[in-house]
Amino acid sequence: MPDIATTIAIKLIQRESVTPEDGGCQNYIESLLAPLGFVRTHVDTGGITNSIYTRTGELPGTLAFAGHTDVVPTGPVEQWQQPPFSAEIIDGILHGRGAQDMKGAIACWIAAIAELCGEYTPLPTLQLLITSDEEGDSIDGTIRIVEHMQAAATLPDAVIIGEPSCSNSVGDTIRRGRRGVVQVRATIHGKQGHSAYPQDADNAIHRAAPALARIAAIKWGEPSAGFPATSCQITNISGGTGASNVIPGHCDAFIDIRYNPGNSFDEIRAAIEAACADCECTLDFDHVATAFSTPDGPFLDLVCGSILRVTGTETLRDTGGGTSDGRFLAAAGIPVAELGTTNSSIHQVNEQVAVSELATLTAIYSDIIKHFEVLA
Ligand SMILES: [Zn+2]
Repeated sequence: MPDIATTIAIKLIQRESVTPEDGGCQNYIESLLAPLGFVRTHVDTGGITNSIYTRTGELPGTLAFAGHTDVVPTGPVEQWQQPPFSAEIIDGILHGRGAQDMKGAIACWIAAIAELCGEYTPLPTLQLLITSDEEGDSIDGTIRIVEHMQAAATLPDAVIIGEPSCSNSVGDTIRRGRRGVVQVRATIHGKQGHSAYPQDADNAIHRAAPALARIAAIKWGEPSAGFPATSCQITNISGGTGASNVIPGHCDAFIDIRYNPGNSFDEIRAAIEAACADCECTLDFDHVATAFSTPDGPFLDLVCGSILRVTGTETLRDTGGGTSDGRFLAAAGIPVAELGTTNSSIHQVNEQVAVSELATLTAIYSDIIKHFEVLA
């Protein structure tokens, strides 16, 4: 007989919820939380299922858990050893899409609350912020939940995000921030002409090459603590007609910048524009994700302390990986820690998680909730 967390994880995986579908997951979550005293607030937007589940606590302070019920597509079903939504346990391993990312973590958080409520443990106010738009565009997901909470003045004091943060064992890594992302589409303009008559043309590649070299050589300064240096990569370049005797009239380039919180979007845009100042060009900036970082302090100490008590593991406070919904919560001034299962099979065929990991994660979550205090 599986434990509570595993039982809930199975039920969630069996509800097919490929992004942006929720597949009935959040109604199932409501059926688990309502008997524990949670009230659900719907923040559905643009066809996305968003919910805030709130249980008013006996203790001061509000601790939130944020997560998503949507999963990425399965990929080739025939490559799965088990059907991706069957949620079978074989030799202590739970198989299925979402096992690590991140139905397993949602199940662990609910199991931890259920156990604490069953023990009549006094608790802070608890919120679950659940969206079905994390793996997709993230346009109508967590950001709408944050907007709702800002308007209603119900923002939490801190948030745990259940993203699979761990490398080899549960608790070895949390993410306390993420780099930001800026993408630039650059078109350098010239005048097309015959290569034998350069006086009548203006070679766009000749104009682009030094500008791109200047972009590649930009010094972005010292990275902020705990973050890798800002990386600016020219990822595509194209120009010319394919004929060797035609001077190109334009040259296109894509630039991808992963920036740490020591840099800002405005600073990045200004630096790229300055590098291109002497050519006629069109620069199209897309600020894909804002960098965020939760500083060392009581909340991260609490999370790492709980991990240490439960597992004996010293935790790496990391900022790696792509972006996450943490950026929307951090932008509202909320301390963010991402802590979930290991991430060895996320987005792959044969996604799976060890049942023992779910038990460990549940124990850590329980310890965090029990020791949560209002953060000064
Ligand atoms: Zn995820």
